[in-house]
Amino acid sequence: MRARGESASRERRKPRERAETSDAPRPRTAASGARHRRAAKPVRSILVLAMVGGLVATVSLPAYAAISPSSTSITVEQQAADDAQSLIVAAGTTTTDLSRSSYAATTADELAAQKAAEEAAAAAAAAAEASSSSSTSTSTSSVDLSIVAPGSGEVRWPLDMSTITVGRGISATHQGVDLLGAFGSYEYAVAAGTVTKAGYYGDYGNVVFLQSVINGSTVSTVYAHMSTMLVSAGQTVSAGQLMGLMGMTGNATANHLHFEVRVNGSLVDPYAWLQQNAG
Ligand SMILES: [Zn+2]
Repeated sequence: MRARGESASRERRKPRERAETSDAPRPRTAASGARHRRAAKPVRSILVLAMVGGLVATVSLPAYAAISPSSTSITVEQQAADDAQSLIVAAGTTTTDLSRSSYAATTADELAAQKAAEEAAAAAAAAAEASSSSSTSTSTSSVDLSIVAPGSGEVRWPLDMSTITVGRGISATHQGVDLLGAFGSYEYAVAAGTVTKAGYYGDYGNVVFLQSVINGSTVSTVYAHMSTMLVSAGQTVSAGQLMGLMGMTGNATANHLHFEVRVNGSLVDPYAWLQQNAG
């Protein structure tokens, strides 16, 4: 029954195919076509059986067995050993054994990710270096500016304020206060500490970075646009020690000290901070 149905459907299909693809006369097709179909039927059956057999073999065996020429002549143990080796080679199967704490790169993707992370960290460090710790927030309201009693001497004014005009203060686009004076005015360390940087940095021009610990708080101060720097990185200074001379190096249009203060990493209003602590 099935064979006849198959044959019948083929008979129905054949003329249409011919009609679409060829202008050959019909009589010849009807006569020789039937003969061909009878001869082709056993061959087709064998082909179908072979194909089904091939499918079963392919499905029932792992993919690697189908391409292994010696897979039928080796023992189960050998097969298992081969399988084990091929599984070890597959990098993806080993990642589940790795914990976060013992991170080890094993695949190209992981190596790339690790490399990217390292490059990002290096770039961030370089950016922080270049912008000289300007990455801290500009929030000023939450920080208590008062660290020491004014007049204690632990915090000094960075300039002789009797000769100074207070210019632009802190804002979203300006992280310090501009204290304007004569070229070469003396600029002092506001507190004892260590010079962390002394050099030329972009808009800051010649700039000194000083880190101090005042009454338990870490206070970082910045002295920008100097004409001359008189300290160097790594040097320790005392409160009120001369560190440089006023100028307008970097991005400046007049001689002034651009002065910044950070308390425990938070940017604060430097002039207000000086008023509350210096003396
Ligand atoms: Zn400024």
